[in-house]
Amino acid sequence: MTASTGAAGEEQAPHGTVVVVEDDRNIAELVDLYLRNAGFRVLQAGDARRGLELVAQERPSLVLLDIGLPGPLDGLQACRELRKTSDVPVIIITARDDEVDRVLGLELGADDYVTKPFSPRELVARVRAILRRAEGPRRPAEEPITVGSVTVDLLRREVTTPAGTVTLTAREFDLLAHFAENPGIVLTRQQLLDAVWGTGWFGDERTVDVHVRQLRRKLGDALPLATVWGVGYRCD
Ligand code: CA
Repeated sequence: MTASTGAAGEEQAPHGTVVVVEDDRNIAELVDLYLRNAGFRVLQAGDARRGLELVAQERPSLVLLDIGLPGPLDGLQACRELRKTSDVPVIIITARDDEVDRVLGLELGADDYVTKPFSPRELVARVRAILRRAEGPRRPAEEPITVGSVTVDLLRREVTTPAGTVTLTAREFDLLAHFAENPGIVLTRQQLLDAVWGTGWFGDERTVDVHVRQLRRKLGDALPLATVWGVGYRCD
């Protein structure tokens, strides 16, 4: 049994527990291996019920949740259940690329996603990035920022347009806040990933596009957000 005694070369940070809800044994074992090597305690569940039990009992730092699970609850339903009682960070594992929009669009409160097949190394980097974010929230500015006719209150995490208050997911809000804090500057997808998702997040730049699409859908013309073709985005 591993009694973590600060093994040579390993990182110091007090790593937490990760619950992995995945019925595919091969993937579960691979993820387990990499997360353990990265210093995490890993608990596995093969279905959603067991996963929810583990979260309730063990209060993990993070949950990896496969969408396609056997039994009465799939991963999406499990995520919804989870959010009724917990704000633990969740990374969704999807089998299909075309599920991504659905996953992010449903506002399940998931923090990130990976698409199978994924690199376990990349997954570990994302887990770390999310936990870093969860630990160290930035200090919000006192005054609300206005972009176009959108007002972003960093302190209250509230967004208003002439049409009223708009509800954003945590990630959408952080992305909008970053645009609002950098008006007139062209931001590449990679810069946005680094700033909003955290450096060390080696994920798909399409994540940014998906979130931008959501912002545009929710804020409409109130948000002066331009696509700079081949480069990224600029908010004026
Ligand atoms: Ca599965």
